[in-house]
Amino acid sequence: MTPPFADRVKSVKQSDIRRYSAICAEMKGINLSQGVCDQAAPDVVKQAAKQAIDDDQAIYTNLRGTAGLRQAIAEKMRSFNGIECDPETEIAVNVGSAGAFACMALSTLNAGDECIVFSPFYSYHVNLLKLFGVTVKYVDLQPPDWSYSAEALAEAFTDRTRMVLINTPGNPSGKVFSEAELLAIADLANRHNAWIVTDEIYEYITYGKPHISIAKFPEARERTVTISGASKTYAVTGWRIGYAVGPAELIDRISVVNDLLYICAPAPLQHGVEAGLGLDSSYYKDMCADYLVKRDMLVETLRSIGFSPHIPDGSYYMLASFEAGRWADGSAATEAILEQVGVATVPGSAFYRNPDDGKYQLRFCYAKKMKDLEDACQRLRKLGSGATANAKS
Ligand code: GLN
Repeated sequence: MTPPFADRVKSVKQSDIRRYSAICAEMKGINLSQGVCDQAAPDVVKQAAKQAIDDDQAIYTNLRGTAGLRQAIAEKMRSFNGIECDPETEIAVNVGSAGAFACMALSTLNAGDECIVFSPFYSYHVNLLKLFGVTVKYVDLQPPDWSYSAEALAEAFTDRTRMVLINTPGNPSGKVFSEAELLAIADLANRHNAWIVTDEIYEYITYGKPHISIAKFPEARERTVTISGASKTYAVTGWRIGYAVGPAELIDRISVVNDLLYICAPAPLQHGVEAGLGLDSSYYKDMCADYLVKRDMLVETLRSIGFSPHIPDGSYYMLASFEAGRWADGSAATEAILEQVGVATVPGSAFYRNPDDGKYQLRFCYAKKMKDLEDACQRLRKLGSGATANAKS
């Protein structure tokens, strides 16, 4: 008999994102499941990290991250996000944006507190909150534009609400929150004295709608932590460099929690990311243009095989619906598609408060090298339209 596990991990299981990614790797399929983003990182980012290793930048950094990286983040926050922040006191570099989110949640939420989350959601946000004993209160986003009811949001706030979570551009919906939506959230957060945490890791990947950071509004500034990182912007998801920007007192706590959990983010990689932050606007413009081509290629492919894609305004994921009856549910669809054509996706149910809302949906990630995405699209086309697939079975 083994000793017992902690209560908090009793219901913890591997995410569907990772599960299908692993099965895909075993099958040597094409992974449109996990947002691995396996494209080439910019040379300047790689060179700076290599140089830092050669220069023996190998020891712990300041618990808030290197001074150079924080300076570069502060400059980017000013010029891109419209947020003035002090690199000494208002920025903490963390182990990925997930690490930043964990440190933020640990610094602000007690077990039993409530956090408002929009559904569909990024499952890691929700599962991490649950791990910490936080009660998640959901507000539904309605396709096709992923809008939400103002009444539902107002009703989600209670006297236990301590935080509201925004993810813009959103994973998996691709929703880009508008200024009016953000101001309405800020207003409610003010009235209920709740923290706002905004995960903006896909901030540079938008297709027309502007990315807006809620913390740039004076109404939100004192209660908001803005989280982002290098993973998606420089295609270095495994480097685990993220950061949190917010009021000094809270960033103090986040930095200490970060120190306790991780000590610091990987030192040489912080130097690589600092160099990335020096890239000029053409880099980000080209990245967006590339994702737009990939998005549209996937949209066209999915339509040709009988799916109805929800076209994202940002990020690099797409939810797409299939007709009920074509497969029993999203898991059956994921497994059938993997087996028939070797392309991995994620069942939509993984992203909804009510898993049935995503029962006939799959999430596709298109952050792939062009040749791999082309290969994936060719394979997907072999599925034929739903009618053909049904007739065959
Ligand atoms: N953010 C990525 C996704 O949604 C990676 C998730 C992960 O591996 N934890 O797929």
